[in-house]
Order: sequence, then structure tokens, then C-alpha cells
Amino acid sequence: MVRVRYAPSPTGSPHVGNIRTALFNYLMARRHGGQFIVRIEDTDKAREVPGAVEEILESLRWLGLTWDEGPDVGGPYGPYFQSQRLDLYHKRVEELIASGHAYRCYCTPEELAEMREFQRINKLPTGYDRRCRFRKPEELERLAAEGRPSVVRLAMPLEGTIVFEDSIRGRVEVESKLVDDQVLLKADGYPTYHLANVVDDHEQGITHVIRGDEWISSTPKHVVLYRAFGWELPVFAHAPIIKGPDGAKLSKRHGDTRCLDYREKGYLGAAVANFIALIGWSPGDDREKMSLREMEEAFSIERIQPNPGVFDITKLQWLNGVYIRDLNASELYDTVRQYHETTQDPEYRQSKAAQTLGKAFEEFSREYVTSALLLEQERVRLLSDFAEASEFFFDEEYEYDPNGVAKWFGQEYVVRLFEFVIENLPGAALSVEEAEGLVNGAADALGLAKRAEAIHPLRVALTGRTKGPGLFELMSVLGPDRIRRRLERTLALIREGAFAS
Ligand code: GLU
Repeated sequence: MVRVRYAPSPTGSPHVGNIRTALFNYLMARRHGGQFIVRIEDTDKAREVPGAVEEILESLRWLGLTWDEGPDVGGPYGPYFQSQRLDLYHKRVEELIASGHAYRCYCTPEELAEMREFQRINKLPTGYDRRCRFRKPEELERLAAEGRPSVVRLAMPLEGTIVFEDSIRGRVEVESKLVDDQVLLKADGYPTYHLANVVDDHEQGITHVIRGDEWISSTPKHVVLYRAFGWELPVFAHAPIIKGPDGAKLSKRHGDTRCLDYREKGYLGAAVANFIALIGWSPGDDREKMSLREMEEAFSIERIQPNPGVFDITKLQWLNGVYIRDLNASELYDTVRQYHETTQDPEYRQSKAAQTLGKAFEEFSREYVTSALLLEQERVRLLSDFAEASEFFFDEEYEYDPNGVAKWFGQEYVVRLFEFVIENLPGAALSVEEAEGLVNGAADALGLAKRAEAIHPLRVALTGRTKGPGLFELMSVLGPDRIRRRLERTLALIREGAFAS
């Protein structure tokens, strides 16, 4: 039975690297019909950030992940907050002290600072010099009687090597004496990460520990702890770090940000999950677009690459566009509307285009808005792109692109072109074919050498823009009434000399 966990510390917002760890664990559990557990490692009260737990869970939900046990859903191995499991850690620490694998240390912060200074000046290896480990029992009793606060430290073996097998990195060997006597229990009664993590992984029956590479240097201490308790080791798998395309460590500069910021910016959870899981993992073929289900079927730890994964935001944008194009008409409307109504992205919310789209949802029919969004669906990458791309469908007071105006509105035939189109518009609706016939007819009637000479000025007149969806398609969506109004407005402006330079 596979049991894996995602064990975030609520010290901030989850980013790409952290979320990838969650995804790998989730996929591992689903691949093997096992269990995925979320455990909150909140033993460092000073670093805890209010709201972080909710944000972590919300990020997972947005990506489409579900968990079998965790802080909100409970489960047979709870509680799932480490801060609610203190008695358990205390009990385990007493066992370690009794068996000689841990000891109380009464060194004060001043003594520790002095020790570090001495090591620095004498160019000695830094770390705890183990002085409490070798104090006489009477001395320890005296310090305890003085009421000195104490911590509990792990008594590392003083010789030999610690060896473990990592499923991604291979065999790892460390000389025991180089590893510090790690603090396990702090003076405030809280365990450190190392103790709580190992105790819980054991108590909660975790079979595979999949986590980021930054923890591999802690693993030797964990191995010593497992041995001291007489417990079996889980399988360890440390996923390599993520870099930007320039080879530097991933940062904001490469587009890395809080997971939920991607939602605010207009990414789809499914696209982000797909993209992040494929950083450093591959299904063994060249698929790039994979649903969570497909990844669940294909996942294996063996296919996590031992070299750093690359985060390429342009690939994510491309993939998001692919997911947007997968939405059917009704999903498209609902998704864009939901995004519009919930995003907190200030740039989006303050844009005029977003305000126009907001009004459009109130004032135009679902059918008209959907048709407009469908025409832009081919071209956008983010949900936030829809507002700007579709603005002209809903706002008739658009400005005209000066380049389009300069190029086309000075042509002697444009007034006749617009008049011809107005005169030949059908009454109620205009199909794409009829629009094409109409424009062809105008080009012929005016004796234009190329149909493009009709298409470009009409596009500028009807949308204010020089680029956009196909003219016949957008004419069909606008319909005869809007086309007439827009062309008449443009003609009036031409006659007023509004475009004269
Ligand atoms: N609490 C650690 C973190 O925030 C967990 C590391 C682990 O998975 O062991 O990443």
C-alpha cells in the first residue's frame, strides 16, 4: 500500500517548486491506488504566516488535487497539524533519551555564540561541540536544578558512515562525524522539523518520501533517527531543483510566483498542474498536454530526471492557450465570466477593457457574448486576454488605430465601400458566407484589384483595429444592425474630417 504525503510548513505562499512536490506525491498515490496525505508542519511558530494553511489547501484544490487525509478532511492518523501532536513527540524523545540516542543540552545562547566564535577564530569545523553529551550526570542534574532551559539533541554516531539509497539521486553516503548533533526538541517544547517529520512519517505509515532536493542534506539525520527508533526506512526520492531557461535558480524574474497568482493572471488550474508536473518529470513519450488523469496513469518516480528541471513561462502560456481552446462554447463563457468576477489582479480589474466586459455580461445576451469569446478563443493565451481582445464587440465608441486610419481611410473609394456595404446588408442576420459574398460584391462593384483592399478598411471601421479575428466571422457575430451603426459612425467621422491629418 502506497502512502505518501505533502508536508508544507505554513510559512508563506506555495510556489512552483513546492507545488510540484505536492503533485508528484499526489500522482504517486493515484498511480498505485494508495493514499495522499496532507500534513501541516507548523512547529516553527515564529515563522508561521496567518492564512498560509488556507492558501496551501486552496492552491491544491485549484490544481484539481484531492487528498485522502488532511487537516480539513481528517483521517485515521490525525491530527494533521504537527502543533497538535506535541505529546507524541515528547514521548518519542523520552524514548530516545532512555536508549542513549538523544541527550539534554543546557547550553545557553551566549555559550553557543562563544563556541561559534571560538570555532571561527581557530578555523575549526562549526557546529555544536557536544559538550553536554559528555557532561557528568551530577553536572547535568545541577544545571537542571538551576532551572536552566534545555533542548534535546540527537547523539550522532561518532564514527562510521550513514548510507541510504535515493530513488532519484542513487546511493548517498555521509561520514557520521561530520553531522551535527541536531536539536530535536526546542526549549519551548516544540519539536524541530527533523524529529516531527520522522516521527509522523512513521506514525502515519508513509511509504515514500518524495520532496525537494533541499532536504537531502537533512536525510542522513533522519536515517539515524529511524535507526535509533528501530523503524524501517521509507523510500526516499529527492526531486532536483527547478531552474529558469537561463540556468539560474528559479525566481520571480522567470515568472515564478505564488501558485494562486497564476489563477489571478488568467491561467487554468489544469494547465498549470500539467505544466508543473512536466518540469523534470516525463511520461516517457513526447506528450506535452496531459490531464491529471493521464498523468496519474503514467506517473513513476523512476521518470523524475536527476538533473534540474527547467521552468519556461512561455511554454506555460502556450499550454494555457491549448487548454482554453479545449473549452466548449458554454464552458468558455462560464470560465471567462467566473475569472472576470473573481480575479483580484489589479492590472486586470483597473483596465477599461475589463470594465467593458463586466458591463457586457450584464447587458448583452449570453449568446452574443459567447460568439464574441469564441472568435477570440483561437488567439488568446490567458483568460485575462479576453477582455482586451473582445472589447470592440461591446463598446461602439472604440478609437481607431491611427496606422489603419492613415493607410485606409484616405483611399478615395472607402466612402463608397462603406456605403455599398450598408446598402446591401440583409435585414435580420448575416451568415459568414453572406458576409463574404457581400465583401466580394463590394470589391467587384468598386473595381478593386484585390479583395484585401475592401477587407482592411472594413476591419478598421468595424473594430477600430488592424488585427483580429477573420472579418467575415466577426461581421456575422456583429450582425447587420451593429455593422450599419458602426459604418455610419465611421462615415460621419470621415465627413467631419475627424481623420484628416
Ligand atoms: N515541512 C517541510 C517543507 O516545508 C517538509 C519537507 C519534507 O517533505 O520532508 O517543505
